[in-house]
Amino acid sequence: MRHERAHRSIDVRHSRLTVPLATSYTGGSVHAYLLHGRVPTLIDAPPGGASFVAALQASLSAAGDGPLAQVIVTHAHHDHIGGSAALHAAFPAVVFRKRAPLPDAPPEWTAIDGEPMLTAGDAQLWALHTPGHAVDHTCLFDVHSGVLFGGDLAINGSTVSIPADSGGGLRQYLRSLRAVLELQPRLLLPAHGEPITQPASLLRGYLSHRMAREQQVLECLAAGLDTADRLVERLYAALAADLQGAARQTVLAHLLKLEEDGRIERTGESWHLRSA
Ligand SMILES: [Zn+2]
Repeated sequence: MRHERAHRSIDVRHSRLTVPLATSYTGGSVHAYLLHGRVPTLIDAPPGGASFVAALQASLSAAGDGPLAQVIVTHAHHDHIGGSAALHAAFPAVVFRKRAPLPDAPPEWTAIDGEPMLTAGDAQLWALHTPGHAVDHTCLFDVHSGVLFGGDLAINGSTVSIPADSGGGLRQYLRSLRAVLELQPRLLLPAHGEPITQPASLLRGYLSHRMAREQQVLECLAAGLDTADRLVERLYAALAADLQGAARQTVLAHLLKLEEDGRIERTGESWHLRSA
């Protein structure tokens, strides 16, 4: 009994390494997670240059790890993959993994196919395909501790953008949220912002937020607002200028989902409810 309780509270031994970024969407920084142990593994490769590599070296030494063995990238957005070349230069033997499509540029990438278990640190991480924010988006779940490395699936205190023009998809995103909810993660460690200690309530909140948004989009269309730009003006009026682009993509993602659902149709740039 005692043993089991201790067993369950076990954590994945890791360090969080943070790189500052200059955009408000990301909350100003991106985290990579270094898993300590037999196979020192970095989750995500942020573009932090020499100072990031130095922080990584220091963290490996402090934990008594060998050299970095593996990098697993959650998705190919620049803030998660842009540091790959620098890491390759610092640790030439590192294996770089991500889900397809693989970048053309070096380093050489090994594809994550399906949803395999990957050894990382001393843990076995389940590489789940969680598209929606990006086609290749992958979350890494440690079944043993209930810790989910979430990439950009979720951000504490914020919502996630769905870039409809570059591989984002709302239907897939909602499916990914439901799939992760079913795993009942205990702790979600995101690439931006603080740890999410109540993942279920945040993810359920996302689902209801999207449903409410969808209803608003339908109401706007019924009121004659018929383009993505006009919907953004109405639904995201208070948003900072540098976030308007992301908002437009998310509105477009809603429109495309409703089109796939057969509820609306478009003529050129103009969208309308389908008559029953
Ligand atoms: Zn991203």
